[in-house]
Amino acid sequence: MMNASDQIKPYFIENRTKIMIGLLSLIIVDMLQLFIPRIIKRVVDDLTTFNMDGWQLLSFALFMIGIAVFIGIFRYIWRRCLLGTARRIEEGLRNMLFAHLQCLSAAYFDKVKTGDLMAHATNDIQQIRMATGMGMVALNDAIVLGLAAIGFMAYINVSLTAYVLIPMPLIVISTRFFSKKMHRGYQTVQAAFSDLTEVIRERFAGIRIIKAHHRNREEAARVEAASQNYVDENIRLVKIVGSFFPMMLFFSNLSLAIVLYLGGRKTIMADITPGDFVAFISYLGLLTWPMMALGWVTNLIQRGRASLDRIHQILQIVPEISDSEDADFIEEAQGHIIFENVSFHYGADPEEQGITTLSQIDLEIEPGTVLGIVGPPGCGKSTLLNLMPRLYDIQRGRILIDGHDIRTLKIQNLRSHIAFIPQEPFLFAGTIRENITFGDQQIPEDRLKRAVRDAALDDTINNFPAGLETVVGEKGVILSGGQKQRIALARCLLQDSAILIMDDPISQVDLETGTAIINTIRKMAGQKTIIIVSHRLSAVSYADCIITLDLGHITECGTHRQLMELNDYYAQTYRLQEIEEDLDAA
Ligand code: ADP
Repeated sequence: MMNASDQIKPYFIENRTKIMIGLLSLIIVDMLQLFIPRIIKRVVDDLTTFNMDGWQLLSFALFMIGIAVFIGIFRYIWRRCLLGTARRIEEGLRNMLFAHLQCLSAAYFDKVKTGDLMAHATNDIQQIRMATGMGMVALNDAIVLGLAAIGFMAYINVSLTAYVLIPMPLIVISTRFFSKKMHRGYQTVQAAFSDLTEVIRERFAGIRIIKAHHRNREEAARVEAASQNYVDENIRLVKIVGSFFPMMLFFSNLSLAIVLYLGGRKTIMADITPGDFVAFISYLGLLTWPMMALGWVTNLIQRGRASLDRIHQILQIVPEISDSEDADFIEEAQGHIIFENVSFHYGADPEEQGITTLSQIDLEIEPGTVLGIVGPPGCGKSTLLNLMPRLYDIQRGRILIDGHDIRTLKIQNLRSHIAFIPQEPFLFAGTIRENITFGDQQIPEDRLKRAVRDAALDDTINNFPAGLETVVGEKGVILSGGQKQRIALARCLLQDSAILIMDDPISQVDLETGTAIINTIRKMAGQKTIIIVSHRLSAVSYADCIITLDLGHITECGTHRQLMELNDYYAQTYRLQEIEEDLDAA
């Protein structure tokens, strides 16, 4: 069984040299910093005893510059090595998470919220980066710099060191307390900011409805409220941060006061030299950060740990639908489809709740034929289509393609033989060309043009000055529902697969465009196996076989003529729609 930490171990192993170099550089920087007070001591002591000339002073100054340069160089190295590795861990984990999520079945995405997944991919992974990058630095500085500074101070004077350390636990404890509060504050500010951007985004997306319903004032108030909340949260955070830093300053100044008084007395009594006194103050300055780091690092690591656990839990989810070891492969599909006593339900326990979405479906679709599926909304038409590319797996029965149970086929292979147009086509925020080709630049121009023409898209594209290079905006916002549907159709026509599945492809186009699309589909009959769901029955009337679904059962099955003779759902709906179309035409 894998542990959460096993998820990031490989990155530590892979980058071990960089981490070692980084830690070494960090320690060198610490040591150089600790060396500076020693030089100051030397200079002050020599100055107070008039033991130094101008040249010596200059050489100390140059020495100091040399140290500063080295500190700069090594600081650059450790930042690159340690924080760079943390960035790599962040990138690797995010890619791994995304790749894994992509393997999970559609049923998983029915259960989780997109916002939660976004939080895992951004927030959690960021916490892991902080814990591994800054966590390592803070831990190192707390231990190495902290202990060494205390050591150097004790070397100067033990009892003075003991007094000076009295306020230090206060720094550790209050950093721990405040860093927790500050973190929570940052989270709330971020949430308020996302809320604000979302509220504004939504209002712009729905600007036409807002205008049409005269909701301007109400919507402005909603934005104002979100904006006010953002300001309030920021002010709350400013109050926390604003009290934290002065408090740290107070504690370190408390130690400084102790040094001034007790150290000053020891200097007067000649227990320590004036140089020691000044060096002591410098060490004290160096000690504040390690004390803060000590308080911070526990929070960093705790948060990183919790985030890593959450990511680990997701990575441990076994995809419900995955390839078996000895999965089959169809080189060239014929498109012969059989449903054998197929039953399906969403969720875990249908028997208890009595909701079976599809029951005992028996169906055979010969290669190159067209199957039309009709039925009232919610009867299971889309569900039946989703089962073929295995977006969901059936619980009972078998679906065969060219004699292979689809569960025995390699998923990639199965899906490569099926072109699928879902009910609500999704467009990415690129150009029309990118949306049709999925960014594949290898596709020959004439094939693309043919797909565009067959999907009755050329008029639309010619009307845009930029043609195929027109940027469609977020989710294809500049396009009508029908245009989006036709882009999705062109996308499918380009994918030269044996089986074409369409979920109501003409639901949002006008009668004329619908007819053009149907004609294209009819032309493909004989070459591809086509399954088409449509609420407009004229779109399937030419099919070799039409089935009517009702509450997940097949209630009618036959050709248009047979179903018309049956005079049931199909025939009645067909006549009704005919009258509607005649009325529309009139
Ligand atoms: P149709 O395409 O015929 O309108 P669907 O196949 O979309 O019907 O839906 C059939 C039934 O399954 C409906 O009752 C619907 O509420 C339910 N359903 C559809 N998708 C899901 C889902 N992802 N999770 C749970 N139930 C669903």
